[in-house]
Amino acid sequence: MTENGDATPLVSLVGVNKHFGALHVLKNIDLTVDRGEVMVVIGPSGGGKSTLCRTINRLETIDEGQIIFDGIPLPEEGRALARLRSEVGMVFQSFNLFAHKTILDNVTLGPVKVRRKPRKEAAMRAMELLDRVGIASQAHKYPAQLSGGQQQRVAIARALAMDPKMILFDEPTSALDPEMVQEVLDVMIGLARDGMTMVVVTHEMGFARRAANRVVFMADGQIVEQNTPDEFFTNARTDRARDFLSKIL
Ligand code: ADP
Ligand code: MG
Repeated sequence: MTENGDATPLVSLVGVNKHFGALHVLKNIDLTVDRGEVMVVIGPSGGGKSTLCRTINRLETIDEGQIIFDGIPLPEEGRALARLRSEVGMVFQSFNLFAHKTILDNVTLGPVKVRRKPRKEAAMRAMELLDRVGIASQAHKYPAQLSGGQQQRVAIARALAMDPKMILFDEPTSALDPEMVQEVLDVMIGLARDGMTMVVVTHEMGFARRAANRVVFMADGQIVEQNTPDEFFTNARTDRARDFLSKIL
């Protein structure tokens, strides 16, 4: 529950099914994400984790079921969909910064173009956010001049600049050199502490233990089990989850 006492989930998926041709990639998914919750989604490759994230902000359509965001069924298209997308931040494995724009422009572009924020105001806010992720001194550089860890921190600042109601992270540290993983996780842990609603696909168990309220284990398009990190890591209930954990821990 949030400080203003709103106990309705921020996101509810009810009976969600999706196919890619003959492949049944999401099988009857029922899932809620509470306000302020940090949910870690783990599971074997090909299990449907990325597709699940993408359906939440309608980068993918669904065949059956319902997705309710902040009390409103997800719109199919048009302005309502654009508005919803701007309220759900997304951070990908591959940063996806605009290569020919400066770091500062990468962070101001969304607020100026989508939110019609005055450029000066957007730039001031962007500098605050870049400071928060420890990149303010790099604001006038271009993405290629930054390390992977720095670029991913910029991607997080860019998501935050839209004042999202939640942020989806799809394997945000998988493409990073090992020595850069922690600096990105530290930013994410900070966001979690500040109450941001987050869905994080990751195999970083340290992050899950420190920041997650819940771990959701997904395999073959299904939610196989979900529990608190402590319970899940020490007492997984299914063979499928125990087998997976034995391979990654
Ligand atoms: P995960 O993120 O858990 O690795 P994904 O959601 O990426 O899983 O993929 C689930 C399954 O759907 C995989 O078998 C993958 O090959 C397939 N898939 C994902 N995207 C597409 C697509 N655009 N077209 C066809 N098949 C896809
Ligand atoms: Mg994936």
